[in-house]
Amino acid sequence: MADGNLSGKVALVTGASRGIGRAIASHLAAAGAAVALVARSRSHLDAAAGEIRARGGAAEAFCADVTDRSGVESAVAAATKRLGPISILVNNAGRAKPFGPIGIVDPDAWWQTQAIHVRGALLFMHAVIPSMRARSAGRIINVSSRGGVEVAPMLSAYCVAKAAQIRLTEHVDAEGRAHGIRAFAIQPGTIITDMAHESMGDPEAQKWTPFLVDHLKAILDEDPAVGLRRVGEFAVALASGRLDILSGRYLDIAWDLDALAREEAAKAAQ
Ligand code: NDP
Repeated sequence: MADGNLSGKVALVTGASRGIGRAIASHLAAAGAAVALVARSRSHLDAAAGEIRARGGAAEAFCADVTDRSGVESAVAAATKRLGPISILVNNAGRAKPFGPIGIVDPDAWWQTQAIHVRGALLFMHAVIPSMRARSAGRIINVSSRGGVEVAPMLSAYCVAKAAQIRLTEHVDAEGRAHGIRAFAIQPGTIITDMAHESMGDPEAQKWTPFLVDHLKAILDEDPAVGLRRVGEFAVALASGRLDILSGRYLDIAWDLDALAREEAAKAAQ
């Protein structure tokens, strides 16, 4: 399948009401996929789906908290009934908080961050993989972060969750390859979204992670539309199968992924 030709495919994107998830959903729809948008807030979700439909795309909104198993299963069942079986899953819902050192940071808030990034991704995989296996067709994109490959003191909730998400990606890809399923963990680049604004305005972030707040403030003038378009295009490339040779890995949007894919193809041919 060529890039930009996802017609006949059904994608489900979590955290699709705002920011990166909304951009990915919009680009997948522009490439021809019918898109199921998932998040908790109905109004933002309807607005995002409406925007896609207004441009001629196919989109439906389904409210769910990604940590709630029955909510996830209902959303996947309803999306499948309305749009067809899901062949592209994008686990993107996330949050950066809580901030602070282990021993002081609230353990329940810390655990909730693991639940959103890891349990959420797992629940959606559990709900869609049986039908992907039955059709020998599936692409899973987990929106990860550089935080998942770094130690960033005072940001352990986020970094541990993202690290686990990367390892989850490696496992689901290794298990899925024989069944036509490929998975990718991506670093989408730093983009000034609501999450970034929330972090900059959070007194705990200002206290414990000034390096993060300063990093975000330093790029406050950058147009988020540029980064959002890049990550949308990246998701379409991964969903199309063009970069399958790189599946099972953490991929940073800043890398030359076409060159990396060529290197891997040359190695595989030896
Ligand atoms: P936003 O805050 O803009 O959007 C987060 C999205 O996730 C919203 O749609 C929100 O909708 C949804 N969400 C949050 N919690 C839940 C939940 N429990 N159940 C369902 N949906 C939920 O964040 P970004 O767009 O910036 O981030 C998207 C992803 O990209 C995250 O995983 C983040 O870690 C990652 N990332 C972002 C970077 C950046 O610079 N922005 C850099 C690296 C990674 P609602 O609140 O309505 O549920």
